[in-house]
Formats: sequence, structure tokens, C-alpha cells
Amino acid sequence: MTLDALHIQLSACRRCADAGYFIGSTPIFSGHAGAVFMTVGQAPGRHEAEVTHRPFSGPAGRRLFRWLAQAGFDEAEFRATQAMTAITRCYPGPHPAGRGDRVPTRAEQAFCAPWLEAELALINPRVLIPIGGLAIGRFLGDEKSSAALRMTECIGEQFERDGRIIIPLPHPSDASQWFNAAENKARLERALEILAELREALLVG
Ligand code: SF4
Repeated sequence: MTLDALHIQLSACRRCADAGYFIGSTPIFSGHAGAVFMTVGQAPGRHEAEVTHRPFSGPAGRRLFRWLAQAGFDEAEFRATQAMTAITRCYPGPHPAGRGDRVPTRAEQAFCAPWLEAELALINPRVLIPIGGLAIGRFLGDEKSSAALRMTECIGEQFERDGRIIIPLPHPSDASQWFNAAENKARLERALEILAELREALLVG
């Protein structure tokens, strides 16, 4: 299967809605064959679902791209050449308690997992950037670790899994704010330094 064929199938996916879950959009993703870097977020937000239909294009996305710019990435070029996907690809709606967006259920994550596996197989990125606790847990976590613990232990570190380099980042949403604590800012700075080194080595060369 080609990446284009996969994306046509993915665009038509309604697995979560068919199972009775609220989803507020059609699937949102962006990926290019030959991408070296792939970001993996939690799920699209309302702005992505209702306005832009592009991953990380709302307020959290603006903060993410400020971070990536610090590592030397240009937003337009990154969007045009790299890959941006998520654990689930449809907007899950607001959090019931009013703090940010609803976290996709385990069932929704499982419904969407084959799409991620297929994207990984077809794009074969060298560097994965899981963003936020849910995505970090998918690639680095275990069932017993809390998302906050995982982030404290792994942001600013470089990992290798299944032949891919993994550089985790915190979620850039206002609902998170993990990155604002002084000790966590230093962890984020180190992660961006590692990404700058990888960009230089793998894209600029
Ligand atoms: S979140 Fe994933 S599995 Fe669920 S409907 Fe959207 S694309 Fe399909």
C-alpha cells in the first residue's frame, strides 16, 4: 500500500463514531513519504477540527512550533516535508471538567493504533517525537508509570526503540503547563538541543 492510499482510507475512518464515541471531526493528520522526523501528539484540538484541519495549528501548535524553531526547524518546511500524527486522529471534544480536551479512551486509542502502525511502516521515520504523556506512554511508558512521572524522567533524554531515535516533548497546551516549572524548563531546553543536533546531522548534514 502507498502512503496516499493509506491516507484515503484513514480519511474515511469512523470506527470511534460507529462504536458510540463522540468525535467532533474527520481524521486529521499530515505525513510525507521520506519524512525523517515524525511528531505524535495525543489528538487534534478544537481549532484543528473546526478551522484549519491541520495537526498542531491552534494555540498549542504555535507554542510547539516556537519550540521546534529553537531547534532550527522552519514551520512551513516541517509541515511540507515531515510527518505529524497522533494517538487518535479525531477531535475527542472538551474534557467533562472543562480543562482542555477529553483524553481519548483506551478503546479509542486501540481503534486508532493500526493507523499509527501503518504510518510508521510506510513513512519509516528515523526520529519520533512523542508529545505529551499519552504519546510518550505509547513509545516509552509502562502501565504503572503516571504520565507526569514519565515526563520528568524522560524529557531531555534520547532513547532508541526498534531502530528509531525517540525524543519526547511535553504537551504544549495551556492545560498542561508542565513545561513552566523551572526544573522542567531545563529539561525542555535539553530536548530542543538534542533535536537541533539531530536536525543538523540528519537533514542538513
Ligand atoms: S480517532 Fe482514529 S480510529 Fe477513531 S474514528 Fe478517528 S481515525 Fe478512526
